[in-house]
Amino acid sequence: MNLGARLEIEGLTRYYGSNPALDDVSLALEAGEFLVVLGPNGAGKTTLVKTIARLVRPSGGRIRLDGEDWLSAPSERQSQVGMLSHATYLYDGLSAIENLVFYGRLYGLEDPESRGREALAVVGLEGMADERAGTMSRGQVQRLSIARAILHGPRLLLLDEPYAGLDPHAAGRLSGILERLSREGRTILLTTHDLDRAPTAASRYLVLVDGRVRAAGARAELPEFELRTAYEAAVAAAGEARWVAG
Ligand code: ATP
Repeated sequence: MNLGARLEIEGLTRYYGSNPALDDVSLALEAGEFLVVLGPNGAGKTTLVKTIARLVRPSGGRIRLDGEDWLSAPSERQSQVGMLSHATYLYDGLSAIENLVFYGRLYGLEDPESRGREALAVVGLEGMADERAGTMSRGQVQRLSIARAILHGPRLLLLDEPYAGLDPHAAGRLSGILERLSREGRTILLTTHDLDRAPTAASRYLVLVDGRVRAAGARAELPEFELRTAYEAAVAAAGEARWVAG
C-alpha cells in the first residue's frame, strides 16, 4: 500500500460570524505529493490545517481522503493524519521519550517505546531521549513535535508554519527531515507566510489570501519567480482592498 494518502478538497468554506476564513477552497493532492500553502497573516492557513485535521468543522464543502468522505469517517481513522501546529502538545515535565510513549499509548501502538525511539531517530534526537521537553531549545522542541506527529505513521502530515521561530541552522535541519519524510512517500501539506522558507522538496504550491486560492499549481508549472510575483501581487491587492474598505 502507498504510504501517502490522496487528499481532495472541494469548495471548502469556514465562516467565523460573517467573515469567511476559508472561501471556496479546492485542492487535490496525489499520494506522496508535497504541497506548500503560502499565505500572509490571517490568510486562513491555520483554519485550513485544522479543518483537514477535523479540529474545526467547515461551514461547507467536502474533504476526501483516498476517495472516502473524511468528515464523516470514524474517529479511529484519525491516525491517518499527523499534525504539527502552533501548540506543541508536549508535556514540559516529561522527557522526549516519555512524551512519545504517552502519545503512542493514546494511539494504541503495540510497542510505543520502540516506535518513539524510531521517531526520535528520524528527527535526529536519539541522543536526547531522556531530556525533558521543558529544557529543550525551540528547534529541538519543533523536532520533537514532528516526532510526535509522525509517531503513529500518518499517511497525511499537516505542518502549520513549522519554521516559525527557528534559526537558519534549525530551519535547514527541518527541511532535511521534511525531505526525508517526503521521500518515504507521505503526503505533506505545509503552510508558511515566507516563500524563502518554502522547502525545496515541495511538489506543488498554493497561494491563499483572505481565505481564497489566488494561485495553485505543480512546482514545474509555477516557477519560483512567477510564484513570488503572484504571491506579492495577491497580498498587495488584498491589502489595498482592506485599505479601501477600512
Ligand atoms: P497567521 O499566519 O496569522 O497564523 P492564518 O493564515 O493561519 O494566519 P487563520 O488563523 O486561519 O489565518 O485565520 C483566518 C481568519 O479567520 C482571520 O481573519 C482570523 O481572524 C479568523 N479566525 C481564525 N480563528 C478564529 C476564531 N476562532 N474565531 C474568530 N475568528 C477566527
